[in-house]
Amino acid sequence: MAQTVRPHEKLDLALIFLGPPGAGKGTQAKEVARLYGVPHLSTGDMLREHVAQGTSLGQRAQPIMARGELVPDSLVLKMIAERIERPDCSHGFVFDGFPRTVAQAQYLGVLLRQHGYKPPLVIHFVIDPQLLLRRITGRRVCKVGGEIYNIYDCPTRVEGHCDKDGGELEQRPDDREEIVGPRLLAYEKQTAPLVAYYRRLGRLHDVDASQGVDDVRQQILRSIREAH
Ligand code: ADP
Ligand code: ADP
Repeated sequence: MAQTVRPHEKLDLALIFLGPPGAGKGTQAKEVARLYGVPHLSTGDMLREHVAQGTSLGQRAQPIMARGELVPDSLVLKMIAERIERPDCSHGFVFDGFPRTVAQAQYLGVLLRQHGYKPPLVIHFVIDPQLLLRRITGRRVCKVGGEIYNIYDCPTRVEGHCDKDGGELEQRPDDREEIVGPRLLAYEKQTAPLVAYYRRLGRLHDVDASQGVDDVRQQILRSIREAH
């Protein structure tokens, strides 16, 4: 049965989208957050915003991100702690790209308890590693609204311009082929241990992220229903 979200259906949960770079987390997180009317909290987007604005956090993060390594936990955790204080986070939220280390996950557990949330529900994007290079190097993002496309798999109607607002598309500097290796290595070393961490807590749902966008979204909505 096709899964939909009924109007006024509340999420009231912290959702985590966990998976390697290019697995499709951002694509799904935007849509699931929109369907439930909750914020989409992408630490990658937040950090790129700091870089664009030249804040002191942005200046520290920029060279690290350019090398495909992880930004130190302390910087990311401060940013998240401030963000979930905001009133728009009172009915749940979707984390995309956070947590990325066991230390981040442990701190998040404390933060969620303090805010009256139960342990997060983790959607684990399981994907054929061979697909990742195509997804990452083919990714293009709208400069205006951040909409995500792929020159091979999710192309725009007019080449180089966003279907939604006509904005120009750009390639993230870290999506070049030579930075993909270090990013995948960082995932394997620092983030993949979170799969076992959350599986032990009984809060991890696997989805087959090699499928098409609509199919993956259906699997996610089903997992959320089952967890409620
Ligand atoms: P992707 O999902 O394609 O890997 P992101 O947009 O989530 O990309 O992240 C881009 C970069 O931002 C990462 O390579 C890393 O340098 C930094 N980053 C994002 N989120 C975190 C985090 N939770 N902890 C540490 N670094 C992060
Ligand atoms: P992540 O946030 O995990 O790094 P994105 O959501 O940015 O991943 O997706 C990476 C690339 O793959 C983008 O170019 C996106 O258009 C494309 N993509 C996302 N989901 C799918 C899918 N299910 N099938 C094919 N391509 C996809």
